[in-house]
Amino acid sequence: MGIIKQLPASVINQIAAGEVVERPASVVKELLENAIDAGATRVDLSVERGGKDLVRVADNGKGMSRDDLPMAFTPHATSKLVEADDLFRIRTLGFRGEALAAIAEVSKLRCQTRQVEDDTGSELTIEAGVASPIKDCGGPPGTVIEVRNLFFNTPVRRTFLKSDSTEAGHVAEMFARIALAHPTVHMTYRSSNKVVHDLHPVTGIKERIAIFFGRELADSLLWVESRVETTSLWGYVGHPSQSRSNNKSQFLFVGGRYVRDRSLGHALSEAYRGLLMVGRQPVAFVHLEIPPEEVDVNVHPTKIEVRFRDGHRIYSQLLSTVRQAFLSSDLHSRLQAPHNPLVDEPANEPPPQAAFGLTSPDPDRQAVGSWFTTSKPTGFQSFPSPGYAGGPATSAPAWASNLPEPPTPSRQVAFNEFQDEHEVKATVVANPSLLPSPRAIELPGRGVTLKAIQVHETYLVAETADGMVVIDQHALHERILYEELKARVGQGGVESQRLLVPEPVDLSAPEAAAVLERRDVLARLGLEIEPFGGDTVLVSSTPAMLRGVTPEQLLRDLADHFRSSVLPPTADAVLEDVLNMVACKAAVKANQRLAPEEIASLLDRRHLVSDSHHCPHGRPTALVFTKAELEKQFGRI
Ligand code: ADP
Ligand code: MG
Repeated sequence: MGIIKQLPASVINQIAAGEVVERPASVVKELLENAIDAGATRVDLSVERGGKDLVRVADNGKGMSRDDLPMAFTPHATSKLVEADDLFRIRTLGFRGEALAAIAEVSKLRCQTRQVEDDTGSELTIEAGVASPIKDCGGPPGTVIEVRNLFFNTPVRRTFLKSDSTEAGHVAEMFARIALAHPTVHMTYRSSNKVVHDLHPVTGIKERIAIFFGRELADSLLWVESRVETTSLWGYVGHPSQSRSNNKSQFLFVGGRYVRDRSLGHALSEAYRGLLMVGRQPVAFVHLEIPPEEVDVNVHPTKIEVRFRDGHRIYSQLLSTVRQAFLSSDLHSRLQAPHNPLVDEPANEPPPQAAFGLTSPDPDRQAVGSWFTTSKPTGFQSFPSPGYAGGPATSAPAWASNLPEPPTPSRQVAFNEFQDEHEVKATVVANPSLLPSPRAIELPGRGVTLKAIQVHETYLVAETADGMVVIDQHALHERILYEELKARVGQGGVESQRLLVPEPVDLSAPEAAAVLERRDVLARLGLEIEPFGGDTVLVSSTPAMLRGVTPEQLLRDLADHFRSSVLPPTADAVLEDVLNMVACKAAVKANQRLAPEEIASLLDRRHLVSDSHHCPHGRPTALVFTKAELEKQFGRI
């Protein structure tokens, strides 16, 4: 006798339910999406115990007729598509006709619905997939669905649910995704009878971003917009200073549907390359409007993944649109004075955001764009304790005498407490990272005398007429070289170094094609190459600036760069690309000790470049601290 048997319907239904309903937030997603598909302009969500006990969604959409009501809960029954071809014309969020059936299978569900033309509504209750007869009910046009005791009949799955607050966090996240995708819908969210959000309809998403992520982030967003062939892209991306430690603040919507896409996530990281510290992730809210036949949303039951017909084009569009936005905006990093508990009233602090179930504000939010806050969140209090024994603990160098005077009496208590604990002056002096290295420099610059030191072998700190400036030595040098090189290319005078013996470099076929295609522009930069049979390229001269780089390394890097570049291979774009690369390679690096003369020369030439605020990648080269800001921070004014 055979061992293969058809599964009973109830088991099939439960397996199917498992694909769609993982946790209360999945129910929230399906119900909210149905409401939006029903054309609702107002949707109210409420949950209890993170949705484990209740998820309720009420909408003012088109409702269902009495005949349709039981159909809505029948597996694979939908009003959203009729024939197979419709799968490639989908304009609704749902289409698989399985969500309601699946949810009804694993909960106690009640649905009340009324179409505007009907006098009475209809009510259906279903427990673990078993429906009761339909009854009349009152209520306004629209639909209310209540889902109670999720997984009550599948106890094992119920035990997989996390704590109420964790589940509430998932629910809040889901709500935010849908609210950001549909800003013109009035949406409210109540958790355990408390109103968490009441989002009035807005035309843009910025207001909603401000509500979910805070005003500071919303105000720093850059607008991006483009249209390439059939695809429109629009939305906001975060200023590089607003980075996060994970990619949870990257929102990508395709046709009003929140999706995750690794390749587009990668395009975003590429766009921010050089602008963010390693391990940091950009923030983005990007909408794509793409004809339904060019995207397959039927990849996964929850439709969180999609497949693009021309993924490569969309990758390029996202990358170049974001890059373009950076090029045309001022990314100058201003120092934002942090909240200083010794000076400011605590009431000045923004209220914590309740988004995503967090009870305290996102810790990352505190760190954004702020030099002080990232390293010393509460002013003095986070200097390391005085454990450093090797330094001159008692003999303060001259600059240390510029430490602020003790604060005025109103702040005396806090200061004293701190002083008792840490011995302020000794700590500051003993902290090796604050000691000048190699030594202070008098710089006879352009009519000004600058004092500067190098710290951490990476930054230059210089005194300016009205404050001080912290310079990223690599970023500044890169910028200077870029400007100088660009000027020289303009005058046709880039120095090149002719190789004694031209060097053949073996590349792959696409690599060879990529560099040879740009041969003329490369020659203007002092890199002369020619085909040498097969995929070998002969290098006869290299830019003098890049003496330390082997011709092979240079060609490979260029080829890599060109192949991943989204810019068309026009002369200007190639020139721009190569200038960036050459400047980056030739510039001094971080963690490189500079001789006093080198520091002097760098600071001196800083004034030669037109925009020394940014390195060619758009990263800031300098942070400016005005004297007024310093005095405010130290409570002098
Ligand atoms: P799908 O959304 O994929 O069609 P669902 O199981 O989520 O499948 O819903 C089944 C059907 O029930 C929908 O096609 C729609 O006709 C109807 N429906 C569900 N929710 C609502 C609602 N809030 N208002 C009106 N009709 C609804
Ligand atoms: Mg649906």
